Amino acid sequence: MSLNFSYPGAIHIHTIYSDGSGSFPEVITAAREAGLRWIVVTDHDTLEGKRFEGWHDDLLVIVGHEITPARNHFLALNVDQVIDNRQAPQDYIDEVYGRGGFGVIAHPDERLKNDFKDVYRWDDWTIDGPRDRQNRVVGLELWNIMSDWGEHLTPTNKYLNFFIPRLGLSGPTPATLAWWDRLNMAGRRTFGIGGVDVHAFKVSVPWGVVEVFPYRWMFSTLTNYVLFDIPFATDPMQARNQVFSALTQGRSYFANRLDGDAPNIVFIARRNQESWSVGDSPSLAAGPLTIVADVGCNAHIQLIRDGQVVVSAVRALRHSIVQPGVYRLEGYRGGRPWLYANPIYVQA
Ligand SMILES: [Zn+2]
Ligand SMILES: [Zn+2]
Repeated sequence: MSLNFSYPGAIHIHTIYSDGSGSFPEVITAAREAGLRWIVVTDHDTLEGKRFEGWHDDLLVIVGHEITPARNHFLALNVDQVIDNRQAPQDYIDEVYGRGGFGVIAHPDERLKNDFKDVYRWDDWTIDGPRDRQNRVVGLELWNIMSDWGEHLTPTNKYLNFFIPRLGLSGPTPATLAWWDRLNMAGRRTFGIGGVDVHAFKVSVPWGVVEVFPYRWMFSTLTNYVLFDIPFATDPMQARNQVFSALTQGRSYFANRLDGDAPNIVFIARRNQESWSVGDSPSLAAGPLTIVADVGCNAHIQLIRDGQVVVSAVRALRHSIVQPGVYRLEGYRGGRPWLYANPIYVQA
């Protein structure tokens, strides 16, 4: 199947229905100004925003919720009632899936507490999805920009990092990427996303009140591109299902747009006239495959197989493969982490 349609969107958003500072109309305006076509709002333990679900001009609004105990946060998607956060993580995940939903493990690798934040990590990494994991797909928030920035905040750098937020960003942690690879290598299908976790907190500083960080700005950072074989449906339920199935099938990638847009990258496996995209499982039985990647700009890219770099190049690469494995693509610009594509699952 060729996935010719790519739509940018943002995941993990808070509004005034929990601890965000923006109303839905404000969030929607900011997302449209940032050029997004879809957003997933996940307020803490509430689905109050549901009445805003649907198309707002060319922006599709989807509403899930973040299950938010003291730690172990989980984005519950495709659920129509709030899942009780007083349960153990395994139990609320099971309930999400039992109700026909799916979810994303949020900011799993937090380690630091400071003036700005507590440690909200995912405590038990043996819990990676529903008990019945077979054929059930789970998401992992590989990079959460708010969490990344907060983890790097100190009393001495806090004003500098506020004015130059990039100084406080280092990308997905190595442990998170390694966990993601291990899960996929073990056949526990896990798709990766980048989350903005935007709240637009109003914070008092010596010269007044600042916003950390505005919706419009955050929507220009981590952007998830979902890939479809047909254009977005005009029916809002169908459109929502298109986003959900692209995510769960791993037909997406994300980039930090502070370091450049990535609307039409190529990352496929090819044999003769046939090609396979991210999320697909081509077989080597009929002969070697060629991985073709082109990110369309001057980026350092690397092809990774089962967690190990196989080959790296600038902007584009072609690489013949004869070994099965979980193949994914990373991109860096100016030495900074920039792009993460979901895997192609190459079978023996
Ligand atoms: Zn959270
Ligand atoms: Zn959050």
